[in-house]
Amino acid sequence: MTPKTVLVFGGTHGNEWTGVYAIQKFAQELQQEARGLEVEFIHANPEAFALNRRFKDEDLNRAFQFLTEARPSSYEHRRARELRERMAQRPCFVIDLHTTTAAMGNTVIITRQHPLNLRVAAELVRKIPETRVILSPDPQRKYLVSQSDFGLMIEVGPVANGVLEPRALLATKALLAETLRELATPSNLTETALEIYEEIEDVYYPLDESGELTAYIHPELQGKDFCALEGEYVAFKSFSGADLKRKASEELYPIFINEAAYYPTKLAFTLCRKKTLKL
Ligand SMILES: [Zn+2]
Repeated sequence: MTPKTVLVFGGTHGNEWTGVYAIQKFAQELQQEARGLEVEFIHANPEAFALNRRFKDEDLNRAFQFLTEARPSSYEHRRARELRERMAQRPCFVIDLHTTTAAMGNTVIITRQHPLNLRVAAELVRKIPETRVILSPDPQRKYLVSQSDFGLMIEVGPVANGVLEPRALLATKALLAETLRELATPSNLTETALEIYEEIEDVYYPLDESGELTAYIHPELQGKDFCALEGEYVAFKSFSGADLKRKASEELYPIFINEAAYYPTKLAFTLCRKKTLKL
């Protein structure tokens, strides 16, 4: 069963302008791709957008895991409650638009392996072949998209925060249009395989005792998102000039390399394993 309601969220992070402009400026055009569906375009985090910051009080795309707590002073906590109620009203397919400062290209992130989500992702790859699919299991349901069984995140990069980057805007629009088209008129995919990148390990920056970085992303790794690593590879360069190496015991693929949003947690990149799923 394909839900007849589609909720498209833009601006979940207030400094990622692409999604905000996509839902505000292309809504009418995109609606035409979705005949027979009820599509609603929702500005997820308007207060953070007004501040041009990722969030006002806490990361909205992590806030859903804390909804059992009382956080009356947090704008995003209240907003997560409202958005979750909206998503719970009836079965809906959720599309959440993001950008990365990392060189991720066209990326679709799935947190729940529902056959519908996999089918839509497979169709996106078929129509827009440079698209990659990440599987990011979310058992705590911290992400906005995980509030429904059906949905995916669209992440396009590299884009500087607070910038309307034309290629990213057009790529986002194209991915969104194909997603709506596929939901409105499902393709008859049979015997299809889907290549996915499954997140398996987060790699953090080396730090000194006071928590300061002692190294930065190695120039040879910068921009190499989705490029295979095997055996020994250079990950960081220390400020004193040393190459810091790591070892991959199997073929692994780094993503979110040098993502601006992850410096507060000192996350440098994430490693994935490539798998092929039969649909
Ligand atoms: Zn984001």
